[in-house]
Amino acid sequence: MGQKELNHERLIGILACPVCKGKMHARGSSFNCNNCGIVFSQGNQRFLDFFPKEALIKSGEYKKWHQRQDLFLKWLHNVWSRDLAAESYAIYDEFEESIKDMPCSLTLDIGCGDGHLRSRLKGAEYIGIDPFEGWILEERPGFMGEFFPVKDDSFIFIKGLGEYLPFREGVFDSVFITNALDHGSHPLRILEEAGRVLKPGGRLNIIHENPSLTRKIMRNHLKGNLKMFARKIRSLFLLRDFGVVHKAVTLDELNHWLDKRFTKNSRLSSKKTHIFYYCLKK
Ligand SMILES: [Zn+2]
Repeated sequence: MGQKELNHERLIGILACPVCKGKMHARGSSFNCNNCGIVFSQGNQRFLDFFPKEALIKSGEYKKWHQRQDLFLKWLHNVWSRDLAAESYAIYDEFEESIKDMPCSLTLDIGCGDGHLRSRLKGAEYIGIDPFEGWILEERPGFMGEFFPVKDDSFIFIKGLGEYLPFREGVFDSVFITNALDHGSHPLRILEEAGRVLKPGGRLNIIHENPSLTRKIMRNHLKGNLKMFARKIRSLFLLRDFGVVHKAVTLDELNHWLDKRFTKNSRLSSKKTHIFYYCLKK
């Protein structure tokens, strides 16, 4: 059984302005906020666009955000490989063991990428949010189909940011953030938003790279796989960028934040490279 189709009216019912959280209404091919007046024009049938560009420009963050996003895409197109996909797949497999009996109902995946997680969530009404719409518009690399098979059915993809979720308070039964928290500009703000949109008793599930190991894993990977001198040089630059792309979230910060708002369970992956969190909103 795949995921259920989310009713259009139901989706409209849970939307809120990503910036001020006011009520949104559809007008022609755009969504307008009744409260702050911001307009989100919709130009593509495949996704909903709630990217808060105006808000980022206003707060002076847009340029910096854009630079980091460019580096991330460079990393994705140059470094992401069959080997890394194979490693990542093993982590997701292990994680899935603990979530497979979970009733997930209405589910939000923050930093959803190409939405491969939906194949592991049986019976969920799945919504994914990510700033890069290329995840669903560009062709997937062949090895992704091998390790992260997805059915052809499309899903609700929202172009947007975890720091600015376009949803009302307390609407989701579960929220996932898998390998995405450290890609955001403000990881704690993403968590704040995740907590806001969850129902009381809702579940927050996180896969987080062990921050002390991330760079080491990358370095070993690059050393082991790139034998040509020129590629080695390039890989040094990519490694430098990797540090810019990934915002460090210390485990102390993460645990402290989660303990205040959630009943938390966590465990280390068998590879010890990632930490799995299963949290219930208090
Ligand atoms: Zn608004």
